[in-house]
Amino acid sequence: MKIAFIGLGNMGSGMALNLQRAGHEVVGFDLSEAARQLHAERGIRIADSAQNAAQGAAAIITMLPASQHVEGLLLGHDRQAGLLEHLNAGALLIDSSTIAAATARRVAAAAAAKGIHFLDAPVSGGTAGAAAGTLTFMVGGSSATLERALPLLEAMGKNIFHAGDVGAGQTAKICNNMLLGTLMIGTSEALALGIANGLDPKVLSEIMRRSSGGNWALEVYNPVPGVQENSAATRDYTGGFGTDLMLKDLGLALESAIAARASTPLGALARSLYAAHSLAGHGTQDFSSIIQLLQENAGQ
Ligand code: NAD
Repeated sequence: MKIAFIGLGNMGSGMALNLQRAGHEVVGFDLSEAARQLHAERGIRIADSAQNAAQGAAAIITMLPASQHVEGLLLGHDRQAGLLEHLNAGALLIDSSTIAAATARRVAAAAAAKGIHFLDAPVSGGTAGAAAGTLTFMVGGSSATLERALPLLEAMGKNIFHAGDVGAGQTAKICNNMLLGTLMIGTSEALALGIANGLDPKVLSEIMRRSSGGNWALEVYNPVPGVQENSAATRDYTGGFGTDLMLKDLGLALESAIAARASTPLGALARSLYAAHSLAGHGTQDFSSIIQLLQENAGQ
């Protein structure tokens, strides 16, 4: 199947390569020249625009930073027509970016008006999961469209959940990321306390991982450099999940909490802490660098 893949960043990179490995004909596009060049070197056919990548594609997958990028690309901006205008009726459009559920529903309605089948299918599993093809997909849309998309999603992920109608995948994703954002802060706080009291972070991490404080951050995403060989922390907080992306997700969680009159005190506090960390100049670093904020606060 010919697939257009738009957005070859930290996540899109591994996802596009896995689709190609599964035997699909992938044509990629990214606004960044560096990303285009890197993926041409990795053997992905690169188009000179999103429109050219999507030409004649049976499926189009987008993996972009935020709502405004997805909306701008697909629906258009500044009186410029969006990509939807150029897609054939019957095409399958899958957005795997984490964006507002309301934006997903707007895009789905515009797609439906053109006979295009849309799914919101945000993911969890990080860049390691994207590279290994073990992502979790949280899908919103019709069962029939999901059925059609399944072979593509299975080439990129291991767990595929149907969360409900369009937008439900995004709602599930921000609930998960609100939990992850608070979990990373809690884990960092505990590690910073131990380090401040003279404990070896490797020893403390292993104790907590195997005790009642065990969690995903301690398993695969330790925030202290050097504790885990392949963590973003050990790579100087590069190449993972940016602080500004976590900040965006916590903003989406807060907006949906306001809309539903839900109480999310820890999510709101976590958003404030990531905002302070971003303002201090760490927005493009991996979100696990939040431990630095807590260590600075501890006077270290
Ligand atoms: P990224 O910033 O590394 O990649 C996004 C890419 O989109 C960039 O290369 C950028 O140049 C490109 N882009 C932006 N606008 C474009 C446009 N109009 N046309 C073509 N390309 C465009 O971000 P990422 O870490 O890959 O994350 C992508 C999405 O996945 C985000 O919504 C993020 O919240 C979500 N996500 C990230 C992770 C993670 O661990 N990094 C995990 C799960 C979900």
